[in-house]
Amino acid sequence: MHGETLAPKKMVQKTIIEPFRIKSVEPFRLSSESERSAFLKAADYNPFLLSSDQVMIDLLTDSGTSAMSANQWAGIINGDEAYAGSRSWLKMQAVVKDLTGFEFILPTHQGRAAERIIYGLVGGKGKTFISNTHFDTTRANIEFSGAEAIDIPIENATDPSWIHPFKGNLNTEKLEKIILEKGAGNVGAVILTVTNNSGGGQPVSMANTREVSRICRKHGVLFMLDCCRVAENAYFIHLREEGYSGKTYKEIAQEMFSLTDGAVMSAKKDALVNMGGFLALKDKDIANECKSLLIITEGFTTYGGLSGRDMEAIAIGLEEVFDADYLTYRMKSTAYLGDHLNKMGVPLMLPIGGHAVYIDAKQFYPHIPVDQYPGQALACELYVKGGIRSVEIGSVMFGKYDSMGKLIPASMELVRLAIPRRVYTQSHMEYVIETFEILLEDRKNVRGMKITEEPKFLRHFTAKFEKLDQV
Ligand SMILES: *Cc1c(COP(=O)(O)O)cnc(C)c1O
Repeated sequence: MHGETLAPKKMVQKTIIEPFRIKSVEPFRLSSESERSAFLKAADYNPFLLSSDQVMIDLLTDSGTSAMSANQWAGIINGDEAYAGSRSWLKMQAVVKDLTGFEFILPTHQGRAAERIIYGLVGGKGKTFISNTHFDTTRANIEFSGAEAIDIPIENATDPSWIHPFKGNLNTEKLEKIILEKGAGNVGAVILTVTNNSGGGQPVSMANTREVSRICRKHGVLFMLDCCRVAENAYFIHLREEGYSGKTYKEIAQEMFSLTDGAVMSAKKDALVNMGGFLALKDKDIANECKSLLIITEGFTTYGGLSGRDMEAIAIGLEEVFDADYLTYRMKSTAYLGDHLNKMGVPLMLPIGGHAVYIDAKQFYPHIPVDQYPGQALACELYVKGGIRSVEIGSVMFGKYDSMGKLIPASMELVRLAIPRRVYTQSHMEYVIETFEILLEDRKNVRGMKITEEPKFLRHFTAKFEKLDQV
């Protein structure tokens, strides 16, 4: 024995387990590749136009697709449906006030309703909005008001392989220049999107938020936080930014809100619900004007287009999302998918973001030119080969045309695999990884796409496509 211990080495498990048991299941049908080819053709090669019954693993979005907890479902039954002064509203209001620190909270049916109200009010012709990256509905609401929306992510943020701990940061040098150039009075708002969804699900640091705040305050410009994923952003700050490892995720989020003048939230993300949103504001006069607009189109100030039960579930979800076990599992499972794809040689947006893995379709299909939409081609292949639905975030979503009708492409051609919260297990992720092995083998044979029909705004939702005949 020689004094050595025979006790087995203490094992520290590496598997990231889901910190919940499954109480209720939703079966989906396992379709064949030939069935899916026919489904996709009938949907004009736009995965948005598929019915969800035709999809096996739906990674189209993490928006409104969360699984609610037993507590939230209990809250649904407890919801108070009073038209005015609903108990569920008071509960939601208290939770949002505590989190954001803002005095004026307006419930809305989802994020874009809050955006339309506030950006419609402070926007209009001649106004400029500046953001690390405007989310698509944010940009659409701003442009619809007649204003312009300028994205200023930090330098290199659009290089998918460039590694930076806070790649979602806003370029503060450019910010000050643009404010001076446009005149502070013409700037509708500066909007910091956390995490930066369209820019790759990348986090924004507290230091960057502080600097944006300083510049906005110096020039008297409204500073709004698009806080859809503020808990996920807080996880990255806790992990990566000096001075924050001792703070709770909620404290980090609270500090971030304290640097801003207001927030817009789609509760369909980090509030862990299927529908809802809010607008939170510091300024009473702006809030009062927004309340009038809310009543005209959304509903009375104590429900704003939401059922009492929705507000009850939001109040509970906004607290659950800051749970350390949940947030760790959430972020590690996204990284699990991303790290595996990265190791296999799938070109990705790096580092891996919070709610999604973004594939660089331009590199995945280098033979498909950008005006043949390599991202759309990849999203279609993923569906046909694996029954996996994803979304193109590239020139279909953000491309424009010049006066000659030639495409001005987006800065990146990405395909997003967004992970619904608490919905899929690790074996579902294994299946997605395996599907990519098949896609990698066949990549040279995949053809580009052309648009055959498109609407004027948010064309990616309803545009129709055809496959081109030749590579
Ligand atoms: C989802 C989202 C929105 C819009 O919210 P909806 O609830 O879909 O209207 C705005 N900004 C960001 C960053 C989002 O992710």
